[in-house]
Amino acid sequence: MTSLQLSAQEETVERFLDAAARGDLSQVSTLLSHVSSLVNRTGRSGWTALMFAARNGHYDVVEALLSHGCDKFSVNSSSQSAYDIAKFWGHRHVSNLLGRTDDGCQRVLPGSDLHQQENYFSRETLDRLSAKRTDKVWLEDRRSDPDTVYLLFSNLSPMVSSPRENHSAGVESKLCRLRYEAVKDLLQKPATVLIFLGVEKRRKPSSSSSQTVDGVQEPPAWFAINTDEDAAELLKRCREKNCYFPKTPNRDLLKLSEEEAGVVAQARSVLAWHSRYSFCPTCGSSTGLEEGGYKRSCLNPDCRSLKGVHNTCYPRVDPVVIMLVIHPDGNQCLLGRKKIFPVGMFSCLAGFIEPGETMEEAVRREVEEESGVKVGPVQYVSCQPWPMPSNLMIGCLAVALSTGIKVDEDEIEEARWFSRQQAIDSFRGTRPAFTVPPRQTIAHQLIRHWIGMNCNL
Ligand code: ZN
Ligand code: MG
Repeated sequence: MTSLQLSAQEETVERFLDAAARGDLSQVSTLLSHVSSLVNRTGRSGWTALMFAARNGHYDVVEALLSHGCDKFSVNSSSQSAYDIAKFWGHRHVSNLLGRTDDGCQRVLPGSDLHQQENYFSRETLDRLSAKRTDKVWLEDRRSDPDTVYLLFSNLSPMVSSPRENHSAGVESKLCRLRYEAVKDLLQKPATVLIFLGVEKRRKPSSSSSQTVDGVQEPPAWFAINTDEDAAELLKRCREKNCYFPKTPNRDLLKLSEEEAGVVAQARSVLAWHSRYSFCPTCGSSTGLEEGGYKRSCLNPDCRSLKGVHNTCYPRVDPVVIMLVIHPDGNQCLLGRKKIFPVGMFSCLAGFIEPGETMEEAVRREVEEESGVKVGPVQYVSCQPWPMPSNLMIGCLAVALSTGIKVDEDEIEEARWFSRQQAIDSFRGTRPAFTVPPRQTIAHQLIRHWIGMNCNL
């Protein structure tokens, strides 16, 4: 190769890197279509095109480079990956794109089931149509529609069916979807609580869909019913095989699909609110259901709660912080176990946020109370509705300022530092140091997130 050829090649690399830095998507694409090997070439200080694009927040270029198979884990001479660079310069949308842990963790934990990034119970399958909650005529109309789906809850447990008669371990269960005809007598009973969940989200129109002549067909509406009728009798209303009402929601509700789990998170929390707050919290009088089950108003006309807006009238959500505390060395995390956990399981520390407290302060207080470890910076990661009965689990990473452990034995029986390698081994199941919490929990996702975050450093 002559020096002339060499410099021509170098010049192309320079042009390519420059286009990425400027966010010139069309030039980046053109150059890549001619010389695909450009994608991982580096310039001065080991910077790749991805790093330049990440530095300047060019989302579309980053996306294009990733789709051309560039190595997002390569690091420059300062040991920074494109992710680190985007994060440092505050390009959140870019760092989110690069920080997705699925492929990162696939690299660290090959073969593990890591395709999901969202938290269980968080998928919104229905359009809640909250504006329709006050439209009594519309709601009435939807209630008797033959396409309407009813979920039936007994003692706050949804009726589900299982593909096998023995519905114990590992088997996915499905919500039983009842029709109006199967539940209409229940709707007449005074003890029945009925809530409107929403309507199915419209899929993209397809040519073969069975639409009405004018092309307008309302998507099916979903309701949930909680009843205290005899559970065994209720099961006869469904045509599915192996129907049952799960006895241990904490475990059994983790067997649903992502879609159905999202619906249950909504339905169960609202129904649980009705069952716990039947009387007016302000004056103790009876209350009446309104707004499709999203409001309970006091029936005592003199009640204070009828003047102004009061949050006692609306379903509640209880915020909980759940955090993975990271050792100041960056390479260990703090996990604890409650007495009720299965043998060997360790998980993130967690606790309710108290009134007048920020999320960050709640993290610091809870960690210190439960483990004696002092915490400095706190970073939010993601959250998860947890319908047992209506928590919102706010997942955070936190950095420890001290490392000595002294557990509060009322809350947890043991807390320990685990190295990143121990966490990886535990996820893989090879020489596990502890049992990982189920993948449906945000604790699992937080630990995985931390492993993924660090695997490129
Ligand atoms: Zn009242
Ligand atoms: Mg606590």
